[in-house]
Formats: sequence, C-alpha cells, structure tokens
Amino acid sequence: MSRLDLLAAGLTDPLLVTDEVNVRYLSGFQSSNCALLVEPDAAVTLFTDFRYLEAARAVEGVELVQTRRDVAGALADLLAGRRVGFEASRISYAQWETIAAGGADLVATRGVVESLRIVKDEVELDAIRSAAAISDDLYEALSNERVVGRSEKELAWWVERTFRELGADGLAFDSIVAAGLNGASPHAHPGDNVIAEGVLLTVDAGCVVGGYCSDCTRTFAVGEISAELAEVYDLVARAQLDGLAAVRAGATGYDVDAASRTAITEAQMAEHYGHGLGHGLGLEVHEAPVLRPESTDVLAARNVVTVEPGLYLPGVGGCRIEDLVVVTEAGCEILTSFTKEMLTLA
Ligand code: ZN
Ligand code: ZN
Repeated sequence: MSRLDLLAAGLTDPLLVTDEVNVRYLSGFQSSNCALLVEPDAAVTLFTDFRYLEAARAVEGVELVQTRRDVAGALADLLAGRRVGFEASRISYAQWETIAAGGADLVATRGVVESLRIVKDEVELDAIRSAAAISDDLYEALSNERVVGRSEKELAWWVERTFRELGADGLAFDSIVAAGLNGASPHAHPGDNVIAEGVLLTVDAGCVVGGYCSDCTRTFAVGEISAELAEVYDLVARAQLDGLAAVRAGATGYDVDAASRTAITEAQMAEHYGHGLGHGLGLEVHEAPVLRPESTDVLAARNVVTVEPGLYLPGVGGCRIEDLVVVTEAGCEILTSFTKEMLTLA
C-alpha cells in the first residue's frame, strides 16, 4: 500500500497536509509553498504555485491545482463550507485564520502523518544508513586531524566542508563543537574558544542523504586529560551501552531512558545528566518516538532513534556519546559504527 493509501485508510474527514516535510513524505514532492488534501477515499489534491508547477506535474496519482502565491488564501476559497482536518502543530496561526475565514469547518488533528513516518521502510533505512556511513567517515577523518590551537568555529567549518566532500547533500543541523568548559553546555554554539590540551572535545554532527538525516556524537580527549575527565568519559560510555542494551520493540521510551541512568545515578551524577536519552530521526533530525523520563512512546521495529546520554559539569567540562540505531524485535541495529573507545587527539 502506498503511503497516501495508508493515510487515507485511517481518515474519517479529509486531511489538509500543510507541513512541507509531511507533503514530501507522502508524495515525494518538495516545495516550501504547497499543501496536500487527502480524502478518505484516497483522492489526493496537490496545491502549489507557478514556481513549483513543473516538479508537481511529475507527482503521480494526484490532482494538481495551481494556486496563487498565497496558498492559504486560495485554500480559503477552495475549501469553503467543507469539513476538513488540519495539522494543528504544523500550521501557522495566520494560515489557519485565513483558511477558517473562508468558511471551512476546520478540525484539529495531531501527529497523523507523523505516526506513519515513525516506522521506516527499506528505502528510508537505506538513506539513513548512507548518511550514518558518511558520519563514520567524518569521525574517522576527524581522528586524524590536529585540533590543538584551532577554534571550535573553525573545526565546525571543517566538519561542514568534510561532510560535503564525503558526499553528503548537506548538514542535518548546525554542528556542535564544544571544547573544555563549553562542553558543559549540551547545545553549545561553536565559538572563538581555542582548543587546548587537557580537555574533552565533544563533536555532535549529522548530515543529510536523500532527504534523510544522520546524527552522531563522539567525545575525544585532547592531549593528556585528568583522571576526573577520564572517569566522566567512562561513565557516559557505560550509560550509553546500558541504553543501547535496553532498546527493543515493545520497550517504552521511559524504560530505555531509565536504563541509561542507572550507572550515572549510582555514581551520584544524576543531576549532571539533564536531558533525555534520545529521539527519533528521519526526514527531520528530531521526530517521534522520544526516549526520555516522561515518554509513553512504545518502540516498534523499524523506528530509528538516537541513544545519547551525556554528563555536563559546570567548570569542569562535558561528555556525550551518541549512536543512531534501528529498533528491531530483539534489540537494535547500530548504524554509527565509529569507535567509542576514548581517542586522544593532538
Ligand atoms: Zn546529535
Ligand atoms: Zn541527537
């Protein structure tokens, strides 16, 4: 069954898909100005403006309607008097207001297309595997770089350039390069901080291949580090393995997250692990399911998630280790295979 047929089979009202990532997922069509109306009988209408018309004509199985640049304004006329579901978390208030003013009866829906995206097919898994393989190549190349004396910002630019040279279509997100005390912030912005010996260096980076993302973090020692930092590394590595071991179809996001906290809690470091264990990933770098203390998501085979515990000690430094995995019935397939032994960079 096609993605559109699967979606239609679960609908009672027509669904107006306004999120461009969801439109791409369902139809393969890429545009920053489009919408898709999917009827319960699987009739599909694609709305877009002149700039995207040629590409839209190539989309099979949809009726194409050319709108003016203001797609919401056009939909206001086209949907007048109809009862239509809309994507509550994927539409701007201004768009909603415009369409509603035309007289459509708009019914809020949440996560309808996202619930299909959560289980990946082979084509999607292959794209994610390719992106993860490029991540491995990137960390391999990084392990041969000299980093002492370079700024975080310069190294982040090296990451960006190297991803492209290795064949990535682009970056999945702005790379995090955090050395020394900056490593104590999970989402540090690479700055002019010059990397010195004796610190931990965290690099969290991902690329895009065929629309699909990768996401991987490794932490390196720069020169000789203190016993305290080495212990932090070992503890995070242990938590990461415990998290990986808990991943399997049927486990809840809560369970898997909790497994990664045991060793850290025993070491009385729980307060320094302030984020969730991981997140789903696909066309977007953050999507369902989530692995964190408040998660009720239940993992299913072919979900793709990250497993990324970290410790962040103000005034000392930080460490995070992140793998990307495919959930299986028995456990998981790890897609990021670059070593997690602590490597020392010069
Ligand atoms: Zn990451
Ligand atoms: Zn991540």
